Amino acid sequence: MKKEYVDVAIVGYGPIAKMLGSLLGKKGWKVGIYEKFVEPYRLPRAVAMDDEIARILQGAVPSAKLEKLFDAAGGEMYNWYNADRELLLSIPFEKEGVSGWPGELFFNQPSLEKEMDQTCSNLSSVRIHYGSEVIDIAEKEESVELTVKEHSGEERKVIANYTVGCDGANSIVREHMEHTVTDLNFAYDFLVVDIIPKGKSELPVIMQICDPTRPTTVVSGGPGRRRWEFMVLPNESKEEISQEEYIWKLLEPWNHTPENSIVERTAVYTFKALWVDNWRKGRTMIAGDAAHLTPPFMGQGMCSGIRDAANLAWKLDLVLKGKSNEDILDTYTEERKPHNQKVVHAALYLGEMICVNDPKKAKERDDAFFSGKVPPFPAFPILTDGILYQPEEEKKDNLAGKLSFQSKVGYQNKVGLFDDVVGTGWTIISPVQNPRELLSNTQLQFLNELDATCIEISSVEEDGKDTVVDVTGKYSEYFEENGIEAVIIRPDYYIFGSTSEVSKVSDLVEALASQFKKYMNTVTVQS
Ligand SMILES: Cc1cc2nc3c(=O)[nH]c(=O)nc-3n(C[C@H](O)[C@H](O)[C@H](O)COP(=O)(O)OP(=O)(O)OC[C@H]3O[C@@H](n4cnc5c(N)ncnc54)[C@H](O)[C@@H]3O)c2cc1C
Repeated sequence: MKKEYVDVAIVGYGPIAKMLGSLLGKKGWKVGIYEKFVEPYRLPRAVAMDDEIARILQGAVPSAKLEKLFDAAGGEMYNWYNADRELLLSIPFEKEGVSGWPGELFFNQPSLEKEMDQTCSNLSSVRIHYGSEVIDIAEKEESVELTVKEHSGEERKVIANYTVGCDGANSIVREHMEHTVTDLNFAYDFLVVDIIPKGKSELPVIMQICDPTRPTTVVSGGPGRRRWEFMVLPNESKEEISQEEYIWKLLEPWNHTPENSIVERTAVYTFKALWVDNWRKGRTMIAGDAAHLTPPFMGQGMCSGIRDAANLAWKLDLVLKGKSNEDILDTYTEERKPHNQKVVHAALYLGEMICVNDPKKAKERDDAFFSGKVPPFPAFPILTDGILYQPEEEKKDNLAGKLSFQSKVGYQNKVGLFDDVVGTGWTIISPVQNPRELLSNTQLQFLNELDATCIEISSVEEDGKDTVVDVTGKYSEYFEENGIEAVIIRPDYYIFGSTSEVSKVSDLVEALASQFKKYMNTVTVQS
């Protein structure tokens, strides 16, 4: 049997594998990706993402290409209507989110994945094996051994330092881990219809119709495309609703007919809400749909998976470099699971509102909204656990765990989004002075181990100084509004901590070092 050795084996080649493969491949790790199908998956799925995800995707698709994939909904409203088209709920999308992209973006998943694949497959240390189904996983002390069955029927062994299951909802990797699953028992069937209108669509970018006779989501499917998600009613079969004639009847009230539109793809899905209780077992981890399923009413299933990839990539990098012990991999579940649980619950809040086909219950729901008895839509979660600056309550850092800010900057004769022109990874930024000047040699050595960068961001370029220029003034506004003079940003763009006085940045670095002490044996903490 053929044998292959890799640093990281990734099972599956959906969007989460593409993201993780790109992040690890860019660090030079030998990554083997095994996808059971011989071709990319073509059925309709994700159409929406938020600005945080667009920022993470900058690591897999050049921004100029990324922009072209989006219908941006920044500044618009996500409106929820009842059967009489009365407004029940309105969720605003930020014109420009904190991550430097419009608050909500709509796209066509196969087009996005095609661009992600371009990057991933061009990385010299990444190899993608199509038609390669992982059929067995065995955890050894020093490695994980995968048995991969080729399309030809031939089998091969893959010996990996670490394995990540990005193998979707029916994950074999999850099965192998034998962890328990928390299922919130939400299960509704929806017919998903993607169309290409021949003219420009006059419909809002997204809206929900909470009509008990046909709960429906109407949404952009990315530039030049529209998507409908029609709830399958109890008296309908999946086969019946999937008939072409039936589909046109459903589209007719929306003025879409065979004369003015092309049906691109259709599928019936059961929307579910669940998560696996632990996302790591030894050298094996799971990410994306393998670890959690989110009903798509918030457009967050893939988004959560992309966050998983961003969280896991920098931790695996430290472990593979031998800089951190494996315990840091436990913070992956510790940090990502509570965040994901809150996202799933928020999606359920919306799902339970729309999936009502009993007119009496729908009326009760509408009345509850009109009389203000419905609890408000929950705020989007932040990171609450793990590697975060968590001083005592009275000194609480309100920015720790929130997303960091990104906007356009000027650096070394280039102007663009911060990550594109300056770079990514652990970053300490101050608008007052370069934080490096305030740190001890031991602290600088520790930051060096993390490959961290210290940045002074200023309104003008200064001769002889390696400053990053705040070309729009938005960084200055951000620091001022938040009353801070320095911030430490993690490689997944969450804020480790901030300080109101740059002179205290060494305390912040010290707090970071003391958290890393249990993972990195080279760290010395000052007393
Ligand atoms: C109708 C619908 C609408 C959605 N809308 C949104 C949205 O707007 N926004 C959003 O963020 N999310 C949305 N989602 C969710 C999103 O599509 C998924 O979360 C995302 O595609 C999951 O990506 P993944 O890489 O984890 O898994 P997948 O894309 O499922 O990829 C898994 C891959 O693993 C392969 N595989 C499986 N088993 C093996 C094996 N044993 N060996 C080798 N390969 C294997 C599969 O062939 C597949 O290619 C939606 C989902 C649906 C169904």
